This record gives sequence, C-alpha cells and structure tokens, in this order.
Amino acid sequence: MPRIPENFQFSQSSLQDYLDCPRRFELRYLLKQEWPALQSEPVLELESHMEQGKQFHRIVQQHLIGIPEEQLSTLSKGSALQRWWDNYLSANPLEGLPQKQYFEYRLTAPFGGYRIVAQYDLIAISPGERAVILDWKTSQKRTRSEFLKSRMQTRLYLFLLVLGGQELNQGNEILPNQIEMIYWFAGYPAEPEFIRYTQFKFEADRDFLFQTLREIANRGDEEFPKTMEVDRHCKYCRYRSLCKTGKDAGDWRQSESGELEEIESLVELDIDQISEIEI
Ligand code: SF4
Repeated sequence: MPRIPENFQFSQSSLQDYLDCPRRFELRYLLKQEWPALQSEPVLELESHMEQGKQFHRIVQQHLIGIPEEQLSTLSKGSALQRWWDNYLSANPLEGLPQKQYFEYRLTAPFGGYRIVAQYDLIAISPGERAVILDWKTSQKRTRSEFLKSRMQTRLYLFLLVLGGQELNQGNEILPNQIEMIYWFAGYPAEPEFIRYTQFKFEADRDFLFQTLREIANRGDEEFPKTMEVDRHCKYCRYRSLCKTGKDAGDWRQSESGELEEIESLVELDIDQISEIEI
C-alpha cells in the first residue's frame, strides 16, 4: 500500500529530508510527528541567528515590493541583521538582473505521479531570453560551492523553472541554458554563487528526481530506514531523542565545516518553511 497521499507535494525540504534520512522524512511528513525546536547548543545563539535570518528575508521582501527604506523595521545596531541589511543596500544584488521580477513566487508542476513545488525568493526574467533565480542566504559561513550545487534546493528550483515556468515566459518553456541561479550571502556580499543551468544538468535532475519519487512511493508499508550517517545527520536532528541517537545536542559553533553547513541548511530550511508549511 503506498503511504504517500495522492495530493502530497514534494518540496526541497521534504526531498532533502528523505535524502539525508528516510526516517526523518517518514516521521515528519507521513507520521506528522511533532517537529520540536532545532537541537543544537547554544540554543539561544542559534535561535537568535534563525530569527534574524527570517527577519532579513521579510525586510528584503518588503523593500522589493516598494516599501521605502526609512519605513522598514528599525534594526538593532551592531546586530547581524543590521550588517546584512547594510551589505544588501551597498552591494545591490539586483543590479543587472532582468527588469521583470517576481518575489516570493511559488511554482508547482505535476511530475512523477505527484506534484513538486518551490517557493522562490526572486525570479527575474526577460521573456524568451534569460531567467535568474536569486536566493538569499544568511548562513554564518560562505557555504561551499560543491555543497550548494548538490542540495535539493538547487536541483529542484532549476528543474522546476524549466518544467513549470511557462506562465512567466509568455506561455513558452524556459530553456535550461537560459537559466541561472544566484545564491547571495548577506554576510559575504562580494562572494555570491552563480550556477548556470544546462540541458545536461536538466536531464540528470529529471532522472534523479524521478527515481527518488519512485523509491519513496514504492516503500509501501515498509519502515523508512534511519540514516547510517549518524554523526553527520543525527547530531543536530530534532528527532534525536525519539530515535535514541544521542542524548546531548551538538554545539553548532564547534562543528566541522560539513556539519556546520548541514545545521545552517536546517536554519535556511526553517526560513523556507515559513511559506512551505502552508502548502
Ligand atoms: S535522529 Fe537521525 S535517524 Fe532519527 S530522524 Fe533524525 S537523522 Fe534520522
């Protein structure tokens, strides 16, 4: 018996959860197990970082829809948020992008018997010529390029814009080689990541996503396995106590670089889920 509801929509978060740990996907999306607070020490520092990341997304969105700078929320002097905002204003990451721009734009399309969905911070497009996906990142470190390129966010966002972007392109498909994705790091304004899409990558993503959806759908009643990479995926996972994979939460400040990227991606996912939760 397939356990995935027919109307289930696969987002970058649910797919990344499945790839990191099938059991996490099962607990979270199929069993609807309560999703406790992020498990990491020191909690207050991490919570503050997450909150400021959410506020940054909110303020940028308000600015993009035309609210004048002086009317935006007052920022605490010396805070990370203030620094990110100053960086945003001085670097102007929108410079040179196509003029037609869609903010907090949600795309969805049928694929592999389900629907896939993504919520884009910004899509800028010159119909028939060029499309740019811009995504804000508020991670403490400038995330490694290889890590970013392998994330489901990158693969799904690019793939879905080809599959479902006609509505933004005068009814025509946007071709892979017309698309670019930019990760803009609020803490590292001079080091954005530029990722060009190609037909080859599109076909690889299509095959990978299709196989992943088939694999999830075919699990039936069988329990979804826990990750074998306990050190990497369990240390900061919210279900750690439930899975009995360790009593004490990891300290995100002392993590190895790969682990830190994992935690920061969880923080970023939290931000993305502000809207995805409503699906
Ligand atoms: S604690 Fe580990 S095994 Fe359990 S859901 Fe989280 S990542 Fe998976």
